[in-house]
Amino acid sequence: MRLILLGPPGSGKGTQAQRLVQRYGIVQLSTGEMLRAAVAAQTPIGLEAKHIMEAGHLVPDEIVVGIISDRIDEPDAVNGFILDGFPRTVRQAEELDELLKQKRMTLDAVVELKVNESALLARVENRAAESRARGEEVRADDTPEVLTRRLANYRGQTEPLIHYYADQRKLMTVDGMMPIEEVTGEIQRILSAIGAAGAKKETKGERKAARAKSAPAKKHRTGAAKTAGKATGRAAKKKAGAKRAKSAAKGRPPAKKVAKKAAKSARKAGLTASLAARSGTGKSARKSAKKAAKKATKKRAKA
Ligand code: AMP
Repeated sequence: MRLILLGPPGSGKGTQAQRLVQRYGIVQLSTGEMLRAAVAAQTPIGLEAKHIMEAGHLVPDEIVVGIISDRIDEPDAVNGFILDGFPRTVRQAEELDELLKQKRMTLDAVVELKVNESALLARVENRAAESRARGEEVRADDTPEVLTRRLANYRGQTEPLIHYYADQRKLMTVDGMMPIEEVTGEIQRILSAIGAAGAKKETKGERKAARAKSAPAKKHRTGAAKTAGKATGRAAKKKAGAKRAKSAAKGRPPAKKVAKKAAKSARKAGLTASLAARSGTGKSARKSAKKAAKKATKKRAKA
């Protein structure tokens, strides 16, 4: 499973990422954590990033993209990862898309934690107090002044990613103001609904390799195999046509309409529009579509 957690500072991305790590056995890749480690180790990147971070600005895109590119190649990321705090700009998102494409990896979902800005200062102050109580060093950027700049950065540079991923139909929005447990539950529900919570999703490349293994490659197919393939295609088309005709004869709306209706009820049930649209191709949507169709038939019978 490969996820992005999106949200302003203090929205609970780190907390939720840790919980998902335990639940799904994937790694949390937090660019903020990695940069803080680089600062502590005084590496060249750390030295460059230190003052930028302390002032609440964003570290240059090429630095963070480089860090992430190397990190997702590590063996512990093979089962998947949660990106926490990355991408933070549209350019980072575009470069991430390119990177994943090159590595033949796909992104399952982008979970946005939506929070009231007014609650964030209190949350960040709380985080600082907890660190102090544990005897840990308090983050230099967890102060009201720096937080104001980080929030402005989020609004100006990171929020456009909401549209970026909504356009890709990857965005799932969760109410981050709910208690921690409930936010985790909601994220898990969404991941199950899109089928990302189970076995590792196959990439296009992996699917192609699996197909090549189980069936002879198209160009090497024998004449008989080609004919059989064509026949299966024709049969499938015929079947679909017959199905449509049958629905029409019974006065039922076409399957597409039913699926649309199911997506609408999914939205009503609290799922986001993009999730509803995505699940329109999944098993659960087909189930909902069936349910919706049954309901519709009953209604018609009554009328
Ligand atoms: P975070 O722990 O995610 O709040 O990040 C702390 C700081 O690290 C940010 O305020 C930025 O200065 C820097 N940083 C973390 N991730 C990124 C990123 N993806 N792009 C640019 N700067 C980042």
